[in-house]
Amino acid sequence: MKLTILGCHSATPRTNTNPTSQVLEIKNHMFLIDCGEGTQVELRRNKIKFSRIKHIFISHLHGDHYFGLVGLINTFSLLTRESELHIYAPKGLKEVITLQMKLSKGWTNYPLIFHELTSKTSEIIYEDDKVEVYTIPLNHRIYTNGFLFKEKENERKIDITAVTEANINVAYFRKLKQGADVENEDGVLIKNEAVTKDPLPAKSYAYCSDTAYTESIIPIINNTTVLYHESTFLEKNEALCVRTKHSTPKQAATIAEMAKVETLILGHYSTRYNGYDEFKSEAETIFKNVHLAKDGKSFEF
Ligand SMILES: [Zn+2]
Ligand SMILES: [Zn+2]
Repeated sequence: MKLTILGCHSATPRTNTNPTSQVLEIKNHMFLIDCGEGTQVELRRNKIKFSRIKHIFISHLHGDHYFGLVGLINTFSLLTRESELHIYAPKGLKEVITLQMKLSKGWTNYPLIFHELTSKTSEIIYEDDKVEVYTIPLNHRIYTNGFLFKEKENERKIDITAVTEANINVAYFRKLKQGADVENEDGVLIKNEAVTKDPLPAKSYAYCSDTAYTESIIPIINNTTVLYHESTFLEKNEALCVRTKHSTPKQAATIAEMAKVETLILGHYSTRYNGYDEFKSEAETIFKNVHLAKDGKSFEF
C-alpha cells in the first residue's frame, strides 16, 4: 500500500501549500481521496497517471476538499477518457457538478457515476475480491465521512520447493492458496501447512478529515494499520477547534492510542502556522509512532 499526499492543508491554496487531496495505491487501485483546488497539478507533479484513477472519495463539501473536482472531471474529458469514473460523496455534489457541466454544455464523453452518501452510520460503499471501502461518519460542521480502506485476507503462499517435492499437480495450486489440503499425484493427502506459507497480513488505511474529537469512530478504525487524522490547530488554539469542529494533535493521538493503530499521520494544518514540528511533539506525548503529512510526501506500508 502506498499513500501519496498531494495536499494536507486546510482553507486556501498558497504558494507552497495545497488544500487536501491524497492518492492511495492498494491492490492495483489508485483511489483519489478528496480533491482540493490544484489537485490535478499535484497529480502531474507526482507523476500519477490520470487514467488509473477510477474512484474518487469526497469527505465533505467544504471547498478545501473538492474545489479541484470539476476541473479534474473536465480534464478527463479533454484527455478523451472513455472508462467509468465513480465518485463517492455527500448528497448534493452531483447537483453542483452537473449544474456546472450543464451551463457550459460540457458533458463528459465517459460515464460519470455518482454514489451519493447520506448514512449517519458506517456503511460499505465499495467492494471487489481484494478490497473493501467503508465510510467513517465524522463530527464536523456539515455532513462528513472519513473512509476506511481494507485489504481482504490475502491468500496463502505456495512453497514451490515443497510442492515439487510433494509431487502435487499445478491444477491444485488454487485450492492450496485457499488453505485446503490436497492429494498428490500418488493419491496421498498432503497437509496444506506442509506446502504453503502464511500470507502477508491484510493492511488497512483510515482517512479521518475533517472532524472534532469523536470517540464514536474507534470501533470502526480499531487496529487499523495507518490512521490519517486531521489536526488543524495546536493545543494553544483549542478554542478554535471547538468552534470550527476540528482536532488538536493530542486529540488525534488519543484516538490513535485508543484504536490501537500502528501508525498515525497528522495533516490538515491550519494555514496560520508556518512549521509543523510542534504538531508532532504534542501528539508524541500521547502516541509514539507519529508522522507528519507533507505535500508531495509518500508513505509505504
Ligand atoms: Zn478542511
Ligand atoms: Zn471542513
